[in-house]
Amino acid sequence: MGRKITKKGLREKLWKIFSKYIRLRDGKCVTCGGAPENAGHYIPKSVTRLSLYFDERNVNAQCVRCNKYLSGNLQSYAIYLEKKFGYGILEQLQQERTKVFKPYPGWWEEKIEEYEEKYKKLLTSMNG
Ligand SMILES: [Zn+2]
Repeated sequence: MGRKITKKGLREKLWKIFSKYIRLRDGKCVTCGGAPENAGHYIPKSVTRLSLYFDERNVNAQCVRCNKYLSGNLQSYAIYLEKKFGYGILEQLQQERTKVFKPYPGWWEEKIEEYEEKYKKLLTSMNG
């Protein structure tokens, strides 16, 4: 067996497949219609705890311009979220952002597997 993967390594691995899935799911930048180059958080990574870090409502495809240079293009982002999830979503995310979530042993590995599956399924259905 190789050496144990650190938690940081697991987080990076999960983020890689999670963001790949999100970008495929959305197909374009949700805030301007540009290329889905990044997966961007509405509630920023620096603020949210793990509860919204890998949340499919809080993370959506964005182009580099919206994600990085416009710091999430949050006004348009908010409009998109309300359209997609209905009014109340912004408040709901704000409420959940500091919720403490402690992954149980094996959680990271399970999530990685889950999103590898979801990605494959989505890809297959798109190539239908
Ligand atoms: Zn954009």
